[in-house]
Amino acid sequence: MINASLKELSAALAQRKISAVELATLFLNRIERMNPTLNAFITTDRDKTLAQARCADEMRKVGADDAAAASSLHGIPLAHKDIFCTQGWRTTCGSKMLANFISPYDAHVVERFAAAGMVTLGKLNMDEFAMGSSNETSFFGAVKNPWDVSRVPGGSSGGSAAAIAARLAPAATGTDTGGSIRQPAALCGLTGLKPTYGVVSRYGMIAFASSLDQAGPMAKSAEDCALLLTAMAGFDTRDSTSLERPAEDYSRDLNQPLTGLKIGLPKEFFGAGMDNDVRAVVEAALDEYRKLGATTVAVSLPNSELSVPAYYVIAPAEASSNLSRFDGVRYGYRAPDYGDLADMYSKTRAQGFGAEVKRRILIGTYVLSHGYYDAYYLQAQKIRRLIAADFTEAFKQCDVIMGPTSPSVAFAFGAKNADPVQMYLSDIYTISTNLAGLPGMSLPCGFGNNNMPVGLQIIGRWFDETKMLNAAHQYQQVTDWHSRMPEGLA
Ligand code: GLN
Repeated sequence: MINASLKELSAALAQRKISAVELATLFLNRIERMNPTLNAFITTDRDKTLAQARCADEMRKVGADDAAAASSLHGIPLAHKDIFCTQGWRTTCGSKMLANFISPYDAHVVERFAAAGMVTLGKLNMDEFAMGSSNETSFFGAVKNPWDVSRVPGGSSGGSAAAIAARLAPAATGTDTGGSIRQPAALCGLTGLKPTYGVVSRYGMIAFASSLDQAGPMAKSAEDCALLLTAMAGFDTRDSTSLERPAEDYSRDLNQPLTGLKIGLPKEFFGAGMDNDVRAVVEAALDEYRKLGATTVAVSLPNSELSVPAYYVIAPAEASSNLSRFDGVRYGYRAPDYGDLADMYSKTRAQGFGAEVKRRILIGTYVLSHGYYDAYYLQAQKIRRLIAADFTEAFKQCDVIMGPTSPSVAFAFGAKNADPVQMYLSDIYTISTNLAGLPGMSLPCGFGNNNMPVGLQIIGRWFDETKMLNAAHQYQQVTDWHSRMPEGLA
């Protein structure tokens, strides 16, 4: 059961081979056993989870014609990144600032999965306010990579990735501002998808950089991600960036043959900077695609070297504005001892935020300040346009773009902490997608040095999630990387 696909779990539940309560208990017991080592979950609540599971079983009993009971996800458990507000469960965003915060409402995504009859297993660890690529910035401690507990799981959705890799949950939510779904998926051997900007509502998802943030699914396979995305996506009036588009079934094209698919290979994604082990595995995956009938064509994204610098102006600028709401008055932490109001603000923020968050707030405030705005923020926005235009040009020659997700396999704890720029470069292949608002995904395609998983990145045209999912699913029909699990964790 722990290695079953969502479709298999759905069938087992429908045929009464297992109940939602039994399934939730199976995963809760694994969490209890393994979470002390992995630290993937910040919050669990057995009673709440089992109450939801009982409700799912009850609904199935009384009538399968009910919309939720008819959903293929009904009764299947999943866990949420702790950036999504959940009514009645605390939502920390990995920060001391929100360590005791209990949201009065559910995020759109949480609501959607609840309406589909899914059962919440708990809240997943993450980098503080989703800032990081290694999960080391969490106030609740680092998450361990189940493939090698001396290594990071990636970030910021590191708890989501570690939980699925260790089979503590069959699926999870994640968010991706510069790579935070795809990079941890790659480092932990999973499939994760960042949708086109605007496809999934961010209502109730704690904001980091609003022009970049997107929610998406993380699971073992593309087929699972397609089912999850179908449930999460859709118009929501409560998020002004949510797009009013007809509902889509993201599973509809999974079985299309890949004959004639044109894969663009950006030369900038295959240059220096990528480790040789990653290169060899990615090249082998591309050979597999050629065997499946796809052709590859060289393309260029000439401005991609500017993506990390542009991102580290835009994302901190937006973060400095979004995080101004954490002032000790409205939400979460307030310093216990202070003088006047200004002192209360400054002590609260000094004590409540960690070092990386403070670094971003400082950079963001600087680049937005009078006199520097034109030199930094405006320039970065112009570069962003050029990056998007590069993709438009490249997509004239191809249907999807492929390359590595991360330049290296999972690194050891502490390896990149001394130099923030080294850490920022972990997202060199993922960030341009966010700047352009494009959909991207990562899927496991083999193992590199020290037997650590390697991810293949697929980038699609705007709103072409189904084509990426089709390409990923066809590859997963002829390979089994996605069903491998870390040894010793069974
Ligand atoms: N690692 C990047 C950062 O630290 C991206 C994070 C994310 O996608 N949330 O900003």
